[in-house]
Amino acid sequence: ITQGLQGALTGIFRSGKLTEANIREGLKQVRQALLEADVEYNVATQFIEKVTAEAVGEKVLKSLRPDEQLIGIVHQQLIALMGPTDHSLHLRRDGINKIMMCGLQGAGKTTTCGKLARKLKAEGWKPLLVAADMQRPAAIEQLKTLGQQLDVPVYAEAPGGNPVAVCKNGLAHAKTAGANVVIFDTAGRLHVDDRLMFELEQIDSRVQPDQVYLVCDAMTGQDAVRSAKAFNDALELDGVILTKLDGDTRGGAAISVKQVTGVPIKFVGMGEQLDRLEPFHPDRMAGRILGMGDIVTLFERAQEEFDAEEMERQQQRMLKGRFTLEDFRNQMKQVRRLGSLGDIMKMIPGMGGLLDQFQNIDAEKDMGRIDAIISSMTLEERQNPDRIDRSRRTRIARGSGTDPADVNRLLKDFDNMSSMMQKMSGLGVKDRFRAVQD
Ligand code: GDP
Ligand code: MG
Repeated sequence: ITQGLQGALTGIFRSGKLTEANIREGLKQVRQALLEADVEYNVATQFIEKVTAEAVGEKVLKSLRPDEQLIGIVHQQLIALMGPTDHSLHLRRDGINKIMMCGLQGAGKTTTCGKLARKLKAEGWKPLLVAADMQRPAAIEQLKTLGQQLDVPVYAEAPGGNPVAVCKNGLAHAKTAGANVVIFDTAGRLHVDDRLMFELEQIDSRVQPDQVYLVCDAMTGQDAVRSAKAFNDALELDGVILTKLDGDTRGGAAISVKQVTGVPIKFVGMGEQLDRLEPFHPDRMAGRILGMGDIVTLFERAQEEFDAEEMERQQQRMLKGRFTLEDFRNQMKQVRRLGSLGDIMKMIPGMGGLLDQFQNIDAEKDMGRIDAIISSMTLEERQNPDRIDRSRRTRIARGSGTDPADVNRLLKDFDNMSSMMQKMSGLGVKDRFRAVQD
């Protein structure tokens, strides 16, 4: 969307002024972008109405271009819509805390039970997992396996039994086993149905969980709304955990689900592995939905793994708009250790769009070519790509075994990326970087 949305807005605001007419026109484009990001139809429409009112009243700031200003307003409003954040599980130190997980089949309940248990254990709690999905024997085995992996106890009974009884027996077991947080992994169905809701309501009323979390698959997009509403009506949810955000979904479900349930999104699932659970951050999600890249997450993950000083240096350069080809390559190399190239490119502003363009190209091979081209440049050229003229281009292409057109394309991509970064820094990204550094 980034390039599409940005491009469309640039056209609309060519006059350089925000007027009521071009704001309305521009927000139509934003609405389209939201729908493409899987935000539910009514949610997107209401949102745009609200932002239109807001933007029409806003004075034009001299320092920003109107299209950027409008994106800024939209960004802020999206953040407001998805907040406030509440990452707490509201656990008490005395007694036994009860957490019930619910959601459709395949949403990621069982996996998320494991992720939560891992997190709690790391924080010094004593979790117990209870297998209350009695319908599928495989589900019980899956939970047991997770428990073994994590060295967390699992309470389970033979398949086909009564889920309420299993939960009650599980609680009794928690007392004797000295557990202080019990997580109930419940059954799901492919679609919301009365029997499932009845079963969950029974557990809810007889076991009285302290927290009920809906586990919701972000990839289901528009459908997420319908199921979230049904679960919320039946169960009074306390929070949502949005899974599979490591996929290529834009994450519009975050907005819809928050709107429909009114409860906070607590965590997001960023992969199948048990350590892939992260607190939910509305600002990042807003950026992702607008296609601005999730660069803060990238830096956070990066900072855990790289040389902090080097990262700081690169961040400063990015903010000053003095990001060189050398930095670009260093960063590509470093971040490659963190995940697949596709993941990484999605997190770098401007690169998501490039990825779409290059869909048919082998990304790893492409990376090798980028590497070769930059290696064939002199240090001076890496720092000042604008000095690369035709004859230098030919020399670099020959040196790297590529075409001058490849060199050209790399320079163009780099240029796009740099200007995108400068734009980002105009949108309050500096503050976000600071927040990360603090
Ligand atoms: P349940 O039916 O709701 O209990 O769902 P499961 O926990 O069994 O998960 C269904 C599938 O989704 C499994 O293959 C999980 O590995 C996968 N899964 C769960 N969470 C995530 C996530 O955050 N990212 C990805 N990529 N896969 C996930
Ligand atoms: Mg399950």
